[in-house]
Amino acid sequence: MNDGQEQAILAVHVRGLDGMCVGCRAWWSRLAPYPCWQVDWATSRQARTITTRFLENVR
Ligand SMILES: [Zn+2]
Repeated sequence: MNDGQEQAILAVHVRGLDGMCVGCRAWWSRLAPYPCWQVDWATSRQARTITTRFLENVR
């Protein structure tokens, strides 16, 4: 896993007009309320990456 995959997930999994996730419907034909678990996963990973980089810069 790397930053690019998280960016790709966040780019596809966006909120639709009806409040459902567009990416889940397009990729998996699945209705999921936005934010779906993949957005949660990507944002939490991004936060962790940013925190790690911050700590590495401090060191
Ligand atoms: Zn989704």
